[in-house]
Amino acid sequence: MAIPEERVKEVGVKAGALVVGIAATDAFNEYVPAGHRPEDFLPGARSVVVAGARGPTAGAWRSPNHEVMEITGYDFRENIAVHAMADFIERELGYYAIQAPSLPTAGHQPPMSMMLAAVLAGLGTRSLAANIILHPEYGMLYYAALITTLPLHPDHLMEKEVCPAPSCVKMYERLGTTPCLRACPASAGGCLDGTIEDGRIAHSFYDRERCHSRAQTYGPGSFQKSLLAILDEDDPARRKTMLYSDFFARSVSALAFYRESVAQCFECIRVCPVGKVHRVNKK
Ligand code: SF4
Ligand code: SF4
Repeated sequence: MAIPEERVKEVGVKAGALVVGIAATDAFNEYVPAGHRPEDFLPGARSVVVAGARGPTAGAWRSPNHEVMEITGYDFRENIAVHAMADFIERELGYYAIQAPSLPTAGHQPPMSMMLAAVLAGLGTRSLAANIILHPEYGMLYYAALITTLPLHPDHLMEKEVCPAPSCVKMYERLGTTPCLRACPASAGGCLDGTIEDGRIAHSFYDRERCHSRAQTYGPGSFQKSLLAILDEDDPARRKTMLYSDFFARSVSALAFYRESVAQCFECIRVCPVGKVHRVNKK
């Protein structure tokens, strides 16, 4: 019979994950404070199993309407894979398992970082593009994880950093920028900045607050912002127009259907060469 690592991963891949990696729970201790570690959510936890899945389809990347990316490109297969693996661990192997809490409970800070989990599970490394974790084959993936008391052998951290890609290093040497940095430069109102030395990231800057307000234009933030503007509006006719506007209606809708407010901007990744073959090249 296959070893438990292989059996768990097979269940995840069958349920829709493109990649599955395993991290040891104590690997988190070096990077995150108490309160955000796997054992804080499941006493006795030994392993974190991370599933990565594709977000937007290749077709969605081609759409001229950027909002289509948000409503047709996501199916959260990584969560389904994690649920399937957690069920397998509990029912077939007899250990405890829970989905790792990854949605923010305050501000933009999740209880557990799926980006860190993906890195510790050997699935990718941080990039200059908004710190997004790049998988060497697939580029940007969406990650979910489970925490379990099942002891599993962890995967190795990726030895070679995925970002910057060789072509980005060449571009940086020639022009002092990379495709993602050029798509959203902090110096010109964007969110990204960085430097490369000896083919590696030497410094990186990501303005998360600015990115959030640009990339996730519908959601609790936009609701609060427009509600304040509506309350401050003295002209009743204009106030009514604002109240019934498409923007406010979508902001309200995003509160009820959180899925609607995922993101609408992918420009830094659209230009990234890593995983590009999976975003284009279809007939
Ligand atoms: S998602 Fe959009 S706004 Fe955010 S860093 Fe990337 S290009 Fe800039
Ligand atoms: S375009 Fe992609 S690989 Fe190149 S520097 Fe940006 S994130 Fe890294």
